[in-house]
Amino acid sequence: MSVQVVSAAAAAKVPEVELKDLSPSEAEPQLGLSTAAVSAMGPPAGGGDPEAPAPAAERPPAPGPGSGPAAALSPAAGKVPQASAMKRSDPHHQHQRHRDGGEALVSPDGTVTEAPRTVKKQIQFADQKQEFNKRPTKIGRRSLSRSISQSSTDSYSSAASYTDSSDDETSPRDKQQKNSKGSSDFCVKNIKQAEFGRREIEIAEQEMPALMALRKRAQGEKPLAGAKIVGCTHITAQTAVLMETLGALGAQCRWAACNIYSTLNEVAAALAESGFPVFAWKGESEDDFWWCIDRCVNVEGWQPNMILDDGGDLTHWIYKKYPNMFKKIKGIVEESVTGVHRLYQLSKAGKLCVPAMNVNDSVTKQKFDNLYCCRESILDGLKRTTDMMFGGKQVVVCGYGEVGKGCCAALKAMGSIVYVTEIDPICALQACMDGFRLVKLNEVIRQVDIVITCTGNKNVVTREHLDRMKNSCIVCNMGHSNTEIDVASLRTPELTWERVRSQVDHVIWPDGKRIVLLAEGRLLNLSCSTVPTFVLSITATTQALALIELYNAPEGRYKQDVYLLPKKMDEYVASLHLPTFDAHLTELTDEQAKYLGLNKNGPFKPNYYRY
Ligand code: NAD
Repeated sequence: MSVQVVSAAAAAKVPEVELKDLSPSEAEPQLGLSTAAVSAMGPPAGGGDPEAPAPAAERPPAPGPGSGPAAALSPAAGKVPQASAMKRSDPHHQHQRHRDGGEALVSPDGTVTEAPRTVKKQIQFADQKQEFNKRPTKIGRRSLSRSISQSSTDSYSSAASYTDSSDDETSPRDKQQKNSKGSSDFCVKNIKQAEFGRREIEIAEQEMPALMALRKRAQGEKPLAGAKIVGCTHITAQTAVLMETLGALGAQCRWAACNIYSTLNEVAAALAESGFPVFAWKGESEDDFWWCIDRCVNVEGWQPNMILDDGGDLTHWIYKKYPNMFKKIKGIVEESVTGVHRLYQLSKAGKLCVPAMNVNDSVTKQKFDNLYCCRESILDGLKRTTDMMFGGKQVVVCGYGEVGKGCCAALKAMGSIVYVTEIDPICALQACMDGFRLVKLNEVIRQVDIVITCTGNKNVVTREHLDRMKNSCIVCNMGHSNTEIDVASLRTPELTWERVRSQVDHVIWPDGKRIVLLAEGRLLNLSCSTVPTFVLSITATTQALALIELYNAPEGRYKQDVYLLPKKMDEYVASLHLPTFDAHLTELTDEQAKYLGLNKNGPFKPNYYRY
């Protein structure tokens, strides 16, 4: 069988799928007292009894209309559009799904070798018989691999390999390797790197307190006993902490990489050494990619009953190749924008045959990925690429959404003079109230030292703007797609491109003026910095809880549909990270809980609350 990749154009023709405006009980299935996800987690910092979370239906009735804040939380509040429905119809999210995300690719030495391309891809399967016989050369492997891995654009990995040797040309598929226990049920670059990988995992554990707490709590209880989880995510130290946690909770796991570049070979080796069947290495070809996924599911005597996916490729593979497996699969947990979109498509077409949990849109993930992660990584990305000093620099940030807010806050704190551009008066007013000058890009483009886009829009910085920038102006993008800056307009004969470092280009005008373009307009932080482990901890904990919830949910709690994570789980994820800060959460008194119409143990906010 040949695996073809079709472009975004085809995918974009698929009609938009709106999240159903579920009734509160459907949209927010309650964990309930017996829910393993909660009971395994233990009490949140400083308060709340996790052993007794009550379903929404059991919440004390809200006082009558007009009797204080409770009015807003009364049962009628359930009729307000669900957060989920609002999120799906958000134009920003539509942009994410329909936008062409061309991506120039940079080889390990920093050489740009491919023109911008479309990254939103959908994989087509020509027939049901898979032949894994294409064994491309190293160069061939690289070029093939560029046509896949759409998930690399919407989920994050803080991959950085310290022990990688690109000298070893032998494909892992051609190697005979065994771990120290004699098992060869894995395929990694080099099992001998396991010790280095183990150290990486130990470092990650320090910043992943919730998963470690979950392990401790689970010593007597195995909420995932009997679970057979097949996973396809970035294989990094943080994923390893998640996998080992799932193992400690009783699950058996088999794992492949969702991205051909992001695997940390030493971490994959450490996992294989400790008995996890891992099939992944950095620099897989397209053929390798599907072979690895197939090795995870096509196993004699083992069949998965849960899926953890990042990008939807694994789910798609099982749908196309082994549809009968869904008879035993209890649920899918999906991490990425792309994968979630595919699930909604399946759901709309009536083809989703198991419940699925959309982890991507959980509040904690959104807030941490967009606001807090960008607040930290914007400085990291700029510093690593330019060694610049931020104090006194004039910066314009385009877009004051979550990402823009994070960037502005970080730069302001470093003493930069920050201007903001916005199209939305509400975000614009927020920028003003936060002390930023709201301007049109044209008004400041001649004077600024740095231009940062984070709008999720296209052509925010045009060739005209680029022509008017001052010498040495740094231009970069923090938004999802690389079309925010019109980089293509810079590829004209009169301009000279000079690669000065990996991910750093000087674009030089005929009069000698040059701008410093970072990561060719692709996401700066994902291209040039790492993502803080603590952010990934939130995501990984959310994934673990979603798996526990779907695996343990009684018959009928979840139908064949896509669900947002119950808010109570979001709250638990947050509460489990609080002890890191020695934070002390205030508990509602009975009287206060009654007044607000809340259960003392949460959920504390309605679904439409914006945080
Ligand atoms: P958002 O929708 O909250 O914010 C985007 C803002 O840009 C909005 O307020 C919108 O009004 C404004 N905007 C749109 N067009 C504009 C224009 N022409 N000029 C000025 N402002 C304009 O979205 P967000 O959560 O802040 O995410 C922004 C982008 O960053 C998205 O593409 C998202 O996928 C991406 N993202 C990046 C990271 C990262 O790590 N770099 C993390 C999360 C999200």
